[in-house]
Amino acid sequence: MHELALMQELQRIALEAAAAEGAQRIHSLRLRLGRLCGVDPDALRFAFEVVMADEVAAGARLELELVPTLCRCGPCGAPFEPEDVILACPRCGSLAAEVLAGRELELIALEVS
Ligand SMILES: [Zn+2]
Repeated sequence: MHELALMQELQRIALEAAAAEGAQRIHSLRLRLGRLCGVDPDALRFAFEVVMADEVAAGARLELELVPTLCRCGPCGAPFEPEDVILACPRCGSLAAEVLAGRELELIALEVS
């Protein structure tokens, strides 16, 4: 379950940021999460509850901004949103697509006080 390891890393970043600002509490974390990044949002929410249960972060909210997958076909140049993990072009059927969006995994906002 790598969501747990990921959340521990995010907690470490959040705690460091809170300490740097002299904050006593972490109120929320906002993450941008691509559908292709291999992280399951539900597992991540569960990991968040487990990892953030200490006093500084207790009651913090996790906000997820899910980024849909966006590809561009190499051979024909058509942009498309793949239906699943197989990135087949709907116009020409090529599998040689370039992923333009959907692999994001970023902490974009952190609210502390
Ligand atoms: Zn194509």
